[in-house]
Amino acid sequence: MKIKTYNAEKMGQSNKKVVLNMIRFYPGISRRDLAEAVGLDPSTVTKIIRDLQKRGWVREVGLDGHFHPGRPAIKLEIVKEVAMSFVVEMTVQRICMGWGYLDNSVDNFSSFRTPQDKSVDVYFDSLAAHLDAQFEKGPLDNLVSISVAVPGLVEWGSNILRSIPRMRWSDVDLEAELRGRLPWMETRKLDILTVNEAKLGLLTEMALNKSVAGMKNGIYLYIAQGVGGALLIGDELYHGSNNIAGELGHMIVSPNGAPCYCGNKGCLETYISIDSVVKAYETRYAPLEGDFRDRFDTLMEMARAKDSQAMTILDEMADYMAIGIANLVNIYDPDFVLLGGMGSQFPDDFVESVSERVYGQLLLPLKGRLLILKGSMDVDSLTLRGATLTAMNEFVRKSFSNEGRERLS
Ligand SMILES: [Zn+2]
Repeated sequence: MKIKTYNAEKMGQSNKKVVLNMIRFYPGISRRDLAEAVGLDPSTVTKIIRDLQKRGWVREVGLDGHFHPGRPAIKLEIVKEVAMSFVVEMTVQRICMGWGYLDNSVDNFSSFRTPQDKSVDVYFDSLAAHLDAQFEKGPLDNLVSISVAVPGLVEWGSNILRSIPRMRWSDVDLEAELRGRLPWMETRKLDILTVNEAKLGLLTEMALNKSVAGMKNGIYLYIAQGVGGALLIGDELYHGSNNIAGELGHMIVSPNGAPCYCGNKGCLETYISIDSVVKAYETRYAPLEGDFRDRFDTLMEMARAKDSQAMTILDEMADYMAIGIANLVNIYDPDFVLLGGMGSQFPDDFVESVSERVYGQLLLPLKGRLLILKGSMDVDSLTLRGATLTAMNEFVRKSFSNEGRERLS
């Protein structure tokens, strides 16, 4: 019967996908643990693995060091070079890039300043020139996509940058800008993926940070030159009706506050973005050196060394951050709040003082139940890892659907 055959084939493909993804996210897993985790018969798992090995996607890497009666357990690992993606982090002052692989690793990291002129043409000329230079370095036989993390509003699932207030961009078609400048994208049939940096940050933390593993509801505050965010609701990233949910930085916390890039006044971003905090310090005390990220790093180092002026500035930041977080916690009742992006650099006592203020402002005493913690990775590896995860999830999805049948044959 035709229908039965089709379903069986589809189920087989989906099992393969699940097994492959388990090895991606739990490198070194044994066949035994894998079968148990995915609830498949061990002989089915063995068959799938044999198939993945034959295709060169998975390899065995030796004994796991434990004694098992019967067959020894062999560790399984992804052959990372099976698929590669150019991963790019666009920010206002820097562009970072690297190569992402199927095992979720990133290497060949490079970073450069963006042009002073923030017009779309000049910016993309510069980005395309750097991608071209990287491409020349090859060999990039298994390049499947370009995956870009962007600040600002990008509709989930599209490559249109709806609004990047800090660059004064609206409705920029990132895909068209790159394809127009990089003819090899067409010849190589490369996909392009564009995702908001805060959403990538949350996805990366959920995949790799054990402190929040298995949690279903969370708030992710992404602190960078702007402030973004992402919401995890019922174990799913929340997108909203227009696919633009999560702009936590534009919550108004002071009606007569400083003007924000978005056109409103007193947004949370105007108090807790790294630019705002650095500027507050410089206006009151002394200039710092480097771009905003460098200057913020310096400020954090000073705070860790208990410099009283740096601590005063951070204390004011903590007040506003706590107001924003308490508002969100009262609305969403999450398991955790993660201070992501540059937030991973916060001194521990700063995180503690924000937490105490938040607990003090909640409607119910959630201390001990609500986890407030800083992100687990520095901002560049976070976004590039996130861009890699997204690119490789898409590669795996396509490979096991009708769109990518040729990749499996
Ligand atoms: Zn705003």
